[in-house]
Amino acid sequence: MSTIIDLSPTLSATLPCWPGDRPFERQSCPSPDGSSLVVSAISTSLHFGAHVDAPAHVLAGAPTIDQLPLDMFVGPCEVFQLRPQFRARIWPEQIPNAPRASRVLIGTGTWPDRTQFTEEFAALSVELVDYLDRQGVRLVGIDTPSMDLFGAMGLDVHLALAERGMIGLEGLCLDGVAAGMYELSALPLKIADADGSPVRAVLIKA
Ligand SMILES: [Zn+2]
Repeated sequence: MSTIIDLSPTLSATLPCWPGDRPFERQSCPSPDGSSLVVSAISTSLHFGAHVDAPAHVLAGAPTIDQLPLDMFVGPCEVFQLRPQFRARIWPEQIPNAPRASRVLIGTGTWPDRTQFTEEFAALSVELVDYLDRQGVRLVGIDTPSMDLFGAMGLDVHLALAERGMIGLEGLCLDGVAAGMYELSALPLKIADADGSPVRAVLIKA
C-alpha cells in the first residue's frame, strides 16, 4: 500500500501571506437559488501557501500558469533535507548526491513557525539553479516563502529559473519528510494568463 504525504499548509486567514500581498479570505455567499446550499468564495494572492510560480511571474512574455506542461508537476521526485544557515543561500556543494529525478524538493528547516511570516529563511543560489539545470532538473521546490532571500533586489533566482524554463514550487511543508525518492503530484489550477497558482502538493511513497 502506498502512503500519501501532504506538503500543503491549510489555506486560511491565519496562514501568513507575503508582507503587503493580498491575504487569504473566504466569505460565505448567498445560495444562488435561495436554498440552504452552502456556497463560499475566496480571495487570495496566487502566491499563497504551497504554490507554483509561472515564469511569467518574473519574465514578461514567458509562459503563464495555464501554458505549463502538466508532466512537470507529476512524477518521480527526490527530496533533499539540508540544514543551511538562516538567511543563507544554498550552494551546489551542499547537495549530497547528483539528483536522481527531474523534480527536486529542498527542505531547509528555516521557516519553523508557520503561524508567522519570517524574513530569516534560506534561499537558492543562481549557482545551484545552474547546477540543477545541468543535471536535468525541471522543477525545484522549497519549504520557504521564496526562492530568493527576503529583500533580495532583482530576484536573481526567480529569473534564473524562468530563463531556463524551470519551475519553482514555494511554501511547501517538508518537516519530517525523509530524504529520498518519491512520486510528486503538485498540479496548479488552470487559471487563464495567471502568474502562479496554489497547489495541493503531495508525495506518494510506494
Ligand atoms: Zn511565488
